[in-house]
Amino acid sequence: MLVALLLLVGLLVASPAAPASPGHERVSVSRVAPSPDYPLEVCVVTGDPLAPAKDRRALDVGGQEIQVCCAACQAEVEARPESYLAKFRELLADR
Ligand SMILES: [Zn+2]
Repeated sequence: MLVALLLLVGLLVASPAAPASPGHERVSVSRVAPSPDYPLEVCVVTGDPLAPAKDRRALDVGGQEIQVCCAACQAEVEARPESYLAKFRELLADR
C-alpha cells in the first residue's frame, strides 16, 4: 500500500508539464503606405520624432502599423519584430 502511494506521488511529481513550444511564432514585417492617423510621433527604435519629410517608413508588423524614421530602423524592426511591437504598445499606453 505504501509502495503504491509512493508510486502515485512519484507519478504526480514527475507528470510532464504541457510541452512548451520552443521558439515563438514569427511576426512578419512588410512595408506599407503610411496611414495619416498613425498615433505615435516618435520612432519606436530611436525614440526620435518622426519628421514627415524624413525617410519615414511605415511597416506592417504582425498586422499592426509601426512607423520608423529610417531604413536602419526598419532593419532593426525586421530583426526583432516582437520587441518593437511590445515597445509600440508601451509607447501608445504612455502617451
Ligand atoms: Zn531610424
